[in-house]
Amino acid sequence: MARKTFIAGNWKMNTTIEDAVALAKGVVEAVGSQDAVDVAICPPYVSLAAVKDVVKDSNVKLGAQDVHWEKMGAFTGKVCCGMLKSVGVTYVIIGHSEQRTYFHETDSTVNKKIQAALKAGLLPIVCIGETLDERKSGKMEAVVETQTRGAFEGISREDALKCTIAYEPVWAIGTGETATPEQANEAHVFVRKILADLYDEESAQSMRIQYGGSMKPGNAKELLSQSDVDGGLIGGAALKPELFEGIVNPK
Ligand code: PEP
Repeated sequence: MARKTFIAGNWKMNTTIEDAVALAKGVVEAVGSQDAVDVAICPPYVSLAAVKDVVKDSNVKLGAQDVHWEKMGAFTGKVCCGMLKSVGVTYVIIGHSEQRTYFHETDSTVNKKIQAALKAGLLPIVCIGETLDERKSGKMEAVVETQTRGAFEGISREDALKCTIAYEPVWAIGTGETATPEQANEAHVFVRKILADLYDEESAQSMRIQYGGSMKPGNAKELLSQSDVDGGLIGGAALKPELFEGIVNPK
């Protein structure tokens, strides 16, 4: 089954509203009229509304970097799914390794966030990936399996099909160190096996798995040409329209 390539930019805690509008304009100019690849940008919460205005008539979709699972109430500092919907968000990144490492994200909170997002009609980008120690000690498969099973616990097949998975080896995020195309593909094939076990082969074959970890114009083509790499979640290179464009249209 053909899976359409999906490139998403995660701007992390970068850009003021003014910077975000300028960057979004650059992205729309560079890739906003093509439709060979699905494209999303995920600015910080405070810039979502302004960036929505910039992308609204283009093929660039809006994403958020996280969400809380509760519907509303006394959760100071948090943002819920309804708020993201009301500002025009389509995708939401859930379980990013920075959330897992610095902000107590667990497989259980990832699962709650996915359930809440799906219920609200948001499309989750579910991040998984092993640390360097885990890879070195031969635990990549065990870690990725636990994270995948934990994320999708209790999620129906129909809902799982709305999710994208981002395999992001933690040792490759923001380090300049990239997984080799073979390492990335091997992990993606393994994740797809777990999805086939959780759901069925057809579902596993139709779900998109992005690679994330220092993807840039120079390595995107090779990574994206792997059989099971269906796109990228891009950090650093998403902050420059020309680099992001070089990943959407890799040469
Ligand atoms: C990310 O944060 O999801 C990421 C992949 O970052 P970078 O591209 O900078 O490694």
